[in-house]
Amino acid sequence: MIRTVDSKAGWCGRGDKKRVFENHKPVVCYDKPPAAQVDRAEYDGKRSAALLGDVVQDFVVPKRSAMTWTMQQGDLCRITLVAGSQVGDMNFWNLDNPAERFYSGKTRQLHSSHLSTYDRLWSVLPYLRPMATVVADSIKYGIDADGAGVHDVIGTRCDDYTYKLITGEERWGSCHSYLTKAAKEAGLSERDVHDVWNIFMCTGFTKDTHQYFCKPSPARQGDYIEFIADMPLLVGLSTCPQGDVSTPVGQVVPEELCHPLGVQVFRAK
Ligand SMILES: [Zn+2]
Repeated sequence: MIRTVDSKAGWCGRGDKKRVFENHKPVVCYDKPPAAQVDRAEYDGKRSAALLGDVVQDFVVPKRSAMTWTMQQGDLCRITLVAGSQVGDMNFWNLDNPAERFYSGKTRQLHSSHLSTYDRLWSVLPYLRPMATVVADSIKYGIDADGAGVHDVIGTRCDDYTYKLITGEERWGSCHSYLTKAAKEAGLSERDVHDVWNIFMCTGFTKDTHQYFCKPSPARQGDYIEFIADMPLLVGLSTCPQGDVSTPVGQVVPEELCHPLGVQVFRAK
């Protein structure tokens, strides 16, 4: 199939001629290299051992806030919707070297735009190591008719700088500001806050214009996602002030659409 593009504002004399492009089949650039594929039985075993072990942390991140916690290699973390539908924005740092932090973009290339069971979260260059592996996802949303999925590594995190760009108004109260506050309390700085893993968030790109879109989160009370730490971690979680993200950025989000998220860390005996 040949596609033509009407280029009215051409350059270098190409002018008003219609450009013609050959069509090629898409080639998956990073087709799940061996390191991105985990031994499922091994991780199922690690999950069972952790869940049968001790609960070493059990707390709630209040709505419209962020907290950090630490994990040992092999610990399992379960994040649960303890009240209503709510998305979470997550950051990950190597506990021993916070310069090694989560790399959303490369994780997206190595796996896909939305993560689920047996996908991994990768660290930035030059490290490029698995930081954590997803071992359970109660939603299993898949990809819907609009191309949307859940638990994306597309979005960056809501922030007050972009809010001002859209509304012209100053504000303090976004995943970026919450994560920055929590990062500072853990000895880091705003510069250590990075692009997130958007858990429970339903997102995609429009088919016609490839614009980023959100849908209200399909996650409901009791839904959860679990991951196992592949290295000692400092983990940050923000309960997004967009709540279930049924309200476009820039509009007031009703208080009743925002909820806390529960965090439990399990350790094998
Ligand atoms: Zn947010």
